[in-house]
Amino acid sequence: MKRIAAIFTAFAISLATALIARAQEPQTSVSSDPVIQLFQKLTSAPGPSGFEEPVTKIMVDEMKPYADKITYDGLGSMIAVQDSSGPRVMLDAHMDELGGLIRRVTPDGFLSMQMLGGWFDQALVDQRWWIIGSKGRVLAVTGIRDIHIAATAERSEVFPRDSLYLDIGAKSAAEVCEMGVEPGDPVVPDSPFEILNGTQNYLAKAWDDRIGLAVMIEVAHRLAHSPHANQIFYASTVQEEIGMRGAQTAADVIKPDVAIALEVGIVKDVPGVKPEEAQEVLGGGPAIFLWDASELPNRKFVAFVKNTAATNSIPLQYDLITGYGDDSAAIQRSNGGVPTVNLVIPTRYTHSHNGIINRGDFDHMVDLVTALVQKLDAAEVARLRTFAPSSE
Ligand SMILES: [Zn+2]
Repeated sequence: MKRIAAIFTAFAISLATALIARAQEPQTSVSSDPVIQLFQKLTSAPGPSGFEEPVTKIMVDEMKPYADKITYDGLGSMIAVQDSSGPRVMLDAHMDELGGLIRRVTPDGFLSMQMLGGWFDQALVDQRWWIIGSKGRVLAVTGIRDIHIAATAERSEVFPRDSLYLDIGAKSAAEVCEMGVEPGDPVVPDSPFEILNGTQNYLAKAWDDRIGLAVMIEVAHRLAHSPHANQIFYASTVQEEIGMRGAQTAADVIKPDVAIALEVGIVKDVPGVKPEEAQEVLGGGPAIFLWDASELPNRKFVAFVKNTAATNSIPLQYDLITGYGDDSAAIQRSNGGVPTVNLVIPTRYTHSHNGIINRGDFDHMVDLVTALVQKLDAAEVARLRTFAPSSE
């Protein structure tokens, strides 16, 4: 009996040690891979629409080594420029993410929230958030009805956004004020970056559109050291999620000859997606939008992308999505019309706390965009901008 007890005690101690060790494991993945570090930095930055400064700071730091000049439009979009002659090629990715604003503080210290961007109501409840207050980050949760007092019919209900509130542990409006929180303060999801169980898939908030920004940084890095017969304007835009506002103002300033938007795409390879709803799969390579509700891409530009992908052996997927809009729609209608395409990295669960992208898709996208820009010389851009029917 004693021996068994001793063995049991030893087992219990080693189990406890293992559990403590697991509890002490870092909350977020660490990696020596500079691309993963860049993803971690970009996705963890808080930047809902209209509050993009933390992301702008990262973009300035990352683009400075490769840019001849960094300027801003009057709305806050940041424009990094490489070279000063040849056709004006605009690359675009937006800095803002889905989030919210504090709307009202109740007398007993709860907060209501104005959402920014296209949220599902069911993505909002029982989540952790960061409020960016005047004294720094304040942790908040969207409270949930307690199951023990819910009527049976309530158990399968979606709680509408107007019934939700943020709880920051305050007992009164005065305590909320003391924590540095007031109406108008931005709110973002609390969702740290993770490598998903050792796979090539990465989990984070805000892939839309921090992954597009990461593509621009990597392309700027490559093109800083290789020839290209154009001037490149890397536009990190603001306020895309509330109506592509920064792309419109940035395009007015840049006056591009052609433009490529870099975005997230919608996948079909999860349960419950109907065949006609989406076409992309995670890990299948970057994709080009052939249609969305906001934009019809320039047809010659689409063919140019297809040819470039094929000649460089880069996989390319297609997509057509109904409930989707992107910066290319604003750019193509600026300055009397601009040929544009929207290139995307397949993403699971966009507009939520927990999106997933694939590393191979990112690497292929960087290859593709670099190859495209290298081929956009004066003759190619003139061809894309020619609409007169060819004479017989
Ligand atoms: Zn987006």
